[in-house]
Amino acid sequence: MYCQVIIDIVHENVASPFTYRIPEGMNLEPGQRVAVPFGRREKEGIVLSLSETSDLAESRVRDVLRPLEDYAAVPAELMELARQMAQDAHCPLAETLRLMLPAQMRGGRVHVKTEKTAVLNIPCEDALKLAEAEKRSPKRAALLRALADGKAHTVRELAGMVKDPASALKKLSADGSIRLSEEETLRIPGITFENCTDPGFTLTAGQREALDEILPCLTGKGGRFLLHGVTGSGKTEVFMAAVHETLSLGKSAIILVPEIALTPQMVSWFRGRFGPVAAVIHSRLSPGERFDEWRRIRRGEARVVIGARSAVFSPARELGLIVVDEEHESTYMSDHHPRYDAREVAIQRCERENATLILASATPSILSFARARRGDYMLLEMPRRVKDRPLPEVEIVDMRKELENGNRTVLSSALRKTLKECVSRGEQAMLLMNRRGYNSFVSCRSCGYVVKCPNCDISMTYHVADNDGLLRCHYCGHAMRPPETCPECGGRYIRYFGAGTQKVEEEVAKLLPGVSTVRMDYDTTGGKDGHGKILEEFRSGRARILIGTQMIAKGLDFPQVTLVGVIAADMTLNLPDYRSRERTFQLLTQVAGRAGRGEKPGKVIIQTYKPEDPVIGYAASQDYRSFFEDEFRRRRRGLYPPFTLLARFLTESRSETAAEHAANHLEREIREMMEKHPVWQKKILHVTNDTPGVKVLRGKSRRHVLMKLLVSPETDEMIAAMTEMAREPFEETEVWFEINPTTMI
Ligand code: ADP
Ligand code: ZN
Repeated sequence: MYCQVIIDIVHENVASPFTYRIPEGMNLEPGQRVAVPFGRREKEGIVLSLSETSDLAESRVRDVLRPLEDYAAVPAELMELARQMAQDAHCPLAETLRLMLPAQMRGGRVHVKTEKTAVLNIPCEDALKLAEAEKRSPKRAALLRALADGKAHTVRELAGMVKDPASALKKLSADGSIRLSEEETLRIPGITFENCTDPGFTLTAGQREALDEILPCLTGKGGRFLLHGVTGSGKTEVFMAAVHETLSLGKSAIILVPEIALTPQMVSWFRGRFGPVAAVIHSRLSPGERFDEWRRIRRGEARVVIGARSAVFSPARELGLIVVDEEHESTYMSDHHPRYDAREVAIQRCERENATLILASATPSILSFARARRGDYMLLEMPRRVKDRPLPEVEIVDMRKELENGNRTVLSSALRKTLKECVSRGEQAMLLMNRRGYNSFVSCRSCGYVVKCPNCDISMTYHVADNDGLLRCHYCGHAMRPPETCPECGGRYIRYFGAGTQKVEEEVAKLLPGVSTVRMDYDTTGGKDGHGKILEEFRSGRARILIGTQMIAKGLDFPQVTLVGVIAADMTLNLPDYRSRERTFQLLTQVAGRAGRGEKPGKVIIQTYKPEDPVIGYAASQDYRSFFEDEFRRRRRGLYPPFTLLARFLTESRSETAAEHAANHLEREIREMMEKHPVWQKKILHVTNDTPGVKVLRGKSRRHVLMKLLVSPETDEMIAAMTEMAREPFEETEVWFEINPTTMI
């Protein structure tokens, strides 16, 4: 027997499988990891297929050294998925196969943990009699009594009952009354929040209707849904009921959340409701915990997997359901190689494994909603909050007027007043200061004018690090000096926009001395469970005001919050990205949805320098449909995704000239292709070659070549050709090729 093995090396010279002989007496199956000789070294690989014969000369075929586990680490469905992904992404299979395994499993950096265990070797009654008769050693007597229940106990556990049991155990084992052995144990990660049990809700009409569509699909051949429910409509309860049904059918479910550290609530709900069949995977687990959770899933002991995007590759047995919560979040796109979009992977897996897919959000991505409208997903709408709780009342505050009235601080008078009232009523408030884009764009504080690129209708950005005082456009490279007075109103208050969470915290402390606040941003959430501690401060009520970046907007449910303040809604609106309107709408709608989720109604104050911007209006009225129509039209007009694809080559090098050379070379190649092939000429709308927003990253100079492609049947072939171009060897330079990159900087 022979097997074809994919060697765990990412290099196109070793991309195709190598044939090895399976020695007599060794049993292997596809998906199993093996150690094989490779050149003069030993390498790890994954068995792709088995065959009875081989075309190669017998003398040239070498033997598999040994299997690394006695089971297929990559089950058949995931082997297929890896193959498909490698094909779609034009990358070696070894690269996508790596996604299917816990990283530390490769290279044997994590092992099965064992613990010394003792179990009785004689009948229980005899053990008790022996204990009675044991006069010389009270330790041995105590151990025999403890083990008389006939169950296996770890030595660690026994040491809790009897001090230093080692020698006593040894004696008992030598006598033959007990057996000592090394037993495998699982490292199951702890949970931060206390367990809750089934709250026994009566489902709302919206939840009922959604489930009436979903549940029949679980029994059958699966279905695809986009669950669009306003904030507080009870989407989680729909997932829970769907998971419950999935489990009762003997299948398993994967629940994807944007970032697990921000969703301990979800985890505790699922753990509470479903107990240990729920496994949690996230980046803060120790390698051992991660490996063991993975093994619990692989064996079918854990049938509900909750995790961030990489959990979509979990080896769940008999997959019945994948839920993607807050599907609009950009964290579902991976930014490491190989790049993937967890939502697309979920679609593929569900299709392949006849499972049901639920994408859920209060603010679906433009892409997903467009697909639902086209009929790719069944659209399920839950337009009302549970118990018909009202959506929060939203007030838009014009910060230009504040300035006119002499208020130069970050808190408007309306927000000050409402915040005071809220705290004096004993309720809680959340203040959102979106710091992403800090100091990055230039805007007029009197009229709201933002300096935009004349070619792209995207705001120009200023980079503190560049030090040349110029504003740049990230899309076309256009550069200009910032204006000294506003071209719109002639005002002198045109400046870099920005104020951080710390500033807000200081203002609040001045306004409400003695009121306890917590701040949640990248500076305060480091370390193990940094988020959990801050959120617990707030949840317990010890802190009355939570101040934070966009982190606080995501999926949190605090019933005591009655006021939400957005310090500067414009911040994200003016980021130099075609998605900034979409992201701003999502952020504002989501954060507004945090108010009034309990019995008391909520109020939201949105501060802005541009109250007339329709995006702010749509978010204030939680009017997703109007926003969608507006944005969809704008994308069509501006030829942005989903109507086009953005593609880019990114070059990175220690040498600035090398990075530039590589980019120039790639640009030339593209332009040559366009001259030679009419299709390329027609489908590529735009090619630019310049420095990205971040010029130097981790000591490497960067350049990028950006292209806008029209979507057509030829696109795939063009992308394959471009992928090849990026693979050419470049001197001292790394080249990445990306389609619709998550960030353009
Ligand atoms: P969403 O994710 O849609 O914003 P959640 O799923 O967080 O909303 O639910 C909002 C709140 O409503 C939660 O506190 C949840 O426990 C509660 N809830 C959900 N379903 C019901 C129901 N059928 N009856 C009463 N309360 C419910
Ligand atoms: Zn431009």
